[in-house]
Amino acid sequence: MKNSYLGKSLAGCAAMIVVAVSNHAVAQSMSENYANDLVKKMTREEKLQMLMGYFSTTAAWLKSTAPKNGMPNSAGYIEGISRLGIPAQSQTDAGIGVATQRSPNPRERTALPSGIAIAATFNDEIAYKGGAMIGNEAWLSGFNVMLAGGANLLREPRNGRNFEYTGEDPLLSGAITGNTIKGIQSNHIISTLKHFAFNDQETNRFTIDVQIGEQAARQSDLLAFEIANEIGKPGSVMCAYNRVNGDYACENDWLLNKVLKNEWGFKGYVMSDWGATHSTIPAANRGLDQQSGYPFDKSPYFAGALDEAVNNNHVSEARLDDMVGRILFAMHENGLFEKPLNGDQSAKIDFVANGKITQEAAEESIVLLKNDRNILPISKTAKKIIIIGGHADKGVLSGGGSSQVYPVGGMAIPNEGPAEFPGPMVFYPSSPLKELQKLTTAEITYYDGADINKAAELSSKADLAIVFANQWTGESVDVVNLNLQNNADELIGKVASANSNTVVVLQTGGPVVMPWLDKVGAVIEAWYPGTSGGKAIARVLVGEVNPSGALPASFVTSINQIPRPKLGGDEVGIAVNNPSQLKGRVSVDYNIEGAAVGYKWLDKTNQTPLFPFGYGLSYSNFEMKNFKVRADKSKVTVNFSIKNNSKVDGKAIAQIYAMPSSDLWEAPKRLVGYKKMQLAKMQEKSGTIEINPKTLAVYNPEIKKWVIKGGDYDFTLSKSSAQHIQKIKVKLEETILD
Ligand code: BGC
Repeated sequence: MKNSYLGKSLAGCAAMIVVAVSNHAVAQSMSENYANDLVKKMTREEKLQMLMGYFSTTAAWLKSTAPKNGMPNSAGYIEGISRLGIPAQSQTDAGIGVATQRSPNPRERTALPSGIAIAATFNDEIAYKGGAMIGNEAWLSGFNVMLAGGANLLREPRNGRNFEYTGEDPLLSGAITGNTIKGIQSNHIISTLKHFAFNDQETNRFTIDVQIGEQAARQSDLLAFEIANEIGKPGSVMCAYNRVNGDYACENDWLLNKVLKNEWGFKGYVMSDWGATHSTIPAANRGLDQQSGYPFDKSPYFAGALDEAVNNNHVSEARLDDMVGRILFAMHENGLFEKPLNGDQSAKIDFVANGKITQEAAEESIVLLKNDRNILPISKTAKKIIIIGGHADKGVLSGGGSSQVYPVGGMAIPNEGPAEFPGPMVFYPSSPLKELQKLTTAEITYYDGADINKAAELSSKADLAIVFANQWTGESVDVVNLNLQNNADELIGKVASANSNTVVVLQTGGPVVMPWLDKVGAVIEAWYPGTSGGKAIARVLVGEVNPSGALPASFVTSINQIPRPKLGGDEVGIAVNNPSQLKGRVSVDYNIEGAAVGYKWLDKTNQTPLFPFGYGLSYSNFEMKNFKVRADKSKVTVNFSIKNNSKVDGKAIAQIYAMPSSDLWEAPKRLVGYKKMQLAKMQEKSGTIEINPKTLAVYNPEIKKWVIKGGDYDFTLSKSSAQHIQKIKVKLEETILD
């Protein structure tokens, strides 16, 4: 088996195998050798110790006490083995920064904008820089494993965790997630890539059986994971709660052994999600390497029971060594031995510098969706501005659940949202109102919007009304619809009727519907913008920052445009994650859309969304031209230039789509490349993109290879998935990718 650890039980095998072993040994990396040598020195007890993770939070509901050496109120801990110099594994959530499990005294850290916001930057460097920053805070907080890297595709716009993920397209999601992981791991830390795979909704997440064919799977969610794995080289992959084609993701031979470890050559270890291990023998033999977060699971499957299973030969000694070796490999490869943890060093965190990094990310992630009459940036002549709702006087919103980062200075509004998980609803103390007051001379007032008629009346007396409208989402619950919360749709409608100079600022976990869109002057999507979010929003509103984000997911006109207007497996018709409401096993059929996720589904079914994938306006006018495509077997390179025909500096995103002339793919077109470019006023620049060949190929399950089919393909230079500026036809040769 490729890239596995060769245990001592193989040592005395037949000559042919020995040859294979020695060939393998030649190709082994330093980290593999290091891991192999260490495994040989370990006792059975020490090996087993490496494979059992414990929840590092004292939890009354689990009747558990946190391990004494773990960081308090964190996700997990595994004691080290000092005799051999093996460090402890200290695990923290998650993708936007150093999280704290619900507690009265959370650690206070910098939060990036949500994952979907980072995807909206269409900027791999921003993803890397953000990852490097949160990884540094994690290390200084006493952690060497970060449970980041969420790459589940946005297949279900109601998914309560869409904010943690990176959108609906496998190329964008894979590249943004991969670069975030790479950044995190530049800090002597292991990052995960999660939740492997198809954990695309929260409703019934512990039990739902996702049905999907192999080709559709490989060309959708698994392609995002494959690209993220290639770019980020995560030390660990976290398997998901749900089942996939019958088997739990954490005991799924196809996902873990065949695809991840054999085909992709993943050398790190698979850890389970917290409560996602269901067995000892099937889990160990089908690819799970480490059980996490005990006692979330019913049993410590990888403790005594695994010992017994090895004694009775149900799990081979070689496999046990492989499990341990993979963890040690990831630790060595990511420098965990080289730079051991040194306890809580958080006094050394540079919050000022890190605040600038998250601010820059937020500024690049904000998407300008509508700007009639150039109502934005706010005119210097505006004298009276009213800001309404969304707690914009206090702060900005964040998403709930295990990934929750608590801000420096404490929550802007205490006791908001549900008392139970995924609450509380945390607002970061970066007030858009206060930031705006610093940037304009206009008189700015705030009204909370509680009385809709009063809000409308106050708006009618202002030069400009800015309504802040929110959709709070969190882990374990999907939203019941795509409407804004707290009657915000009605509020916006009435305010816009009273004042046509109405700007809407959205803070949402993902796509929402906009029944009021025709009435308002401008809309910006700010997602959950992180701990410097208020400043970023204010700077975009006044034009200190030229918006440059683009939608990483289609915004549909209504839920009827998506493949499953009723949530998959939601027997009771309400989006809850409550196993007691289940009648037997439920499943969701992802074969309906297969790999045609998001804009691909809309294209295939000839539907026009409210805002297409890739859409985003700017205060500049960008002219895209000089498009050229060169094809040499599987290597396709495109060239183009962009001119900023305006008096303000800005950033443009060149998007490249490909469309085969016959029906070869899951949908008419795919995003095959993108590049964000900074352009000073009136500046012209040329750009080059090398197309990732897998984005042009189909996966052939029989030969287990990606194949670019021979034939004619249109390539486009585009501003979004619906705005194609130039188109070139190219013939591609049939090519089997290596
Ligand atoms: C989540 C994971 C998280 C883990 C540890 C689980 O509930 O699904 O994303 O990393 O908890 O907190």
